[in-house]
Amino acid sequence: MRISEIQTRVHETAVEHGWWEQPRPVGEVLMLMVTELAEAMEAYREGNPESDKIPGYSKLEEELADVIIRVLDFAGGAGLDIERALAAKMAYNDTRPYRHGGKRA
Ligand SMILES: [Mg+2]
Repeated sequence: MRISEIQTRVHETAVEHGWWEQPRPVGEVLMLMVTELAEAMEAYREGNPESDKIPGYSKLEEELADVIIRVLDFAGGAGLDIERALAAKMAYNDTRPYRHGGKRA
């Protein structure tokens, strides 16, 4: 499945579940992505137990999936072309120097 197809499906699910009945403040949606990253950090700190929502996967996998879902839902609502932007950014990153010219992290 292409990323654009996943984006469409994720956003359609969110719309069907009522998350887009009102305009969504961009800052709020962006911070919800951060909360999923925080949940991923907590999963890691707890030793990355098995997810209780998606059996067979770890909690870290679940929360990182949530991050992607949040990003693609927002992109779907905002009409952003994440699939092509991702490809363009990956191509750009290929051109960058080792450690981007000396960054430590
Ligand atoms: Mg989560």
